[in-house]
Amino acid sequence: MIGTELCAQNRRRATFAMFVGIDCDFWRRHDAFMHLLLIEDERKVASFVARALRESAHTVDVAATGQKGLDLANRVSYDAILLDVRLPGLSGIQVCKELRQSGVEIPILMLTARTLVEQRVEGLDAGADDYLTKPFALDELQARVRAITRRGGSKKLQCADLEFDRQRGLVSRAGEQISLTTKELALLELLLARSPEPVGRTVIVENVWSYGFDTETNLVEVYINRLRQKIDQSHRVKLIHTVRGVGYRLGLPT
Ligand code: CA
Repeated sequence: MIGTELCAQNRRRATFAMFVGIDCDFWRRHDAFMHLLLIEDERKVASFVARALRESAHTVDVAATGQKGLDLANRVSYDAILLDVRLPGLSGIQVCKELRQSGVEIPILMLTARTLVEQRVEGLDAGADDYLTKPFALDELQARVRAITRRGGSKKLQCADLEFDRQRGLVSRAGEQISLTTKELALLELLLARSPEPVGRTVIVENVWSYGFDTETNLVEVYINRLRQKIDQSHRVKLIHTVRGVGYRLGLPT
């Protein structure tokens, strides 16, 4: 299995480099960059899977216990959660149930070593969107993650004349297409999803970069300025606003 996974990894590396070199938009349309949470207690499996997903340009946070995963999933708007069933303490099934009961609707892919039908059903009944039996090939993991994230969420986010087509990764204002980098896109998506509410700096760092990322850097300001240049500069009505002492808000001026 490891051999299969390493082959897949090399293939993916080559594929990724090719897409970046030739046509970044093509890559973005066909495999959206995502912020994922991996809840897995086996360190080797966790680091291998996380590394492979990061090489595909996804941002991955890893939690080694169910409780830590639960805490993170309640704070960060992940695109999907990869959840191991057998965890010490809180099991994957319990984590899934608790998330759904508290209204968290992030797509969940259960990772299970179990092959019994009734145990897969238990995971789906607990609110998981799909399951994958270990050992799995990384290509299949990526395909399943893409499938569950396509199902959930609205396809278009909009604020005034600003539009973000999530499925195609296209942003436009007043019908004019705007080209954004991956991180700019992630930041815009977060602000649009929370609009018209303001979003705090820490929440931005945790969602756009990663949990545990240095929140003291001025990256947020840098990226907000870039977004302002691309989205607001040539328009009379500004949509990105600084909310003093809180963070940033996307919406019509009040
Ligand atoms: Ca485990």
